[in-house]
Amino acid sequence: MATMCPACSGLITTGPDCPCGEEMEDGGPAADYFGPYSPYFNAAFESTGCVHLFTCPACGSHSLLYIPLREV
Ligand SMILES: [Zn+2]
Ligand SMILES: [Zn+2]
Repeated sequence: MATMCPACSGLITTGPDCPCGEEMEDGGPAADYFGPYSPYFNAAFESTGCVHLFTCPACGSHSLLYIPLREV
C-alpha cells in the first residue's frame, strides 16, 4: 500500500487560519525551502508525514504544519 501527502497531491489547498484572520496558503513542502537537513525539518516526520510551509497573504507570517500521509 502506498502513501501520499494530501497537500502535495492537491487534496488540501487551504491552510490554517492566521491569527490576523486570513486563511493561510500552502507554500509547498518545507523541505523545498529549508532543505531536508535543516533544523526546521524533523527527519522523524519524513516517513509518516510531510511538513508544509503555510504563509499568510495578508500579513506575511508563516508557519510550518505537519501533514499526515494518507494511504491510497
Ligand atoms: Zn506534502
Ligand atoms: Zn496573517
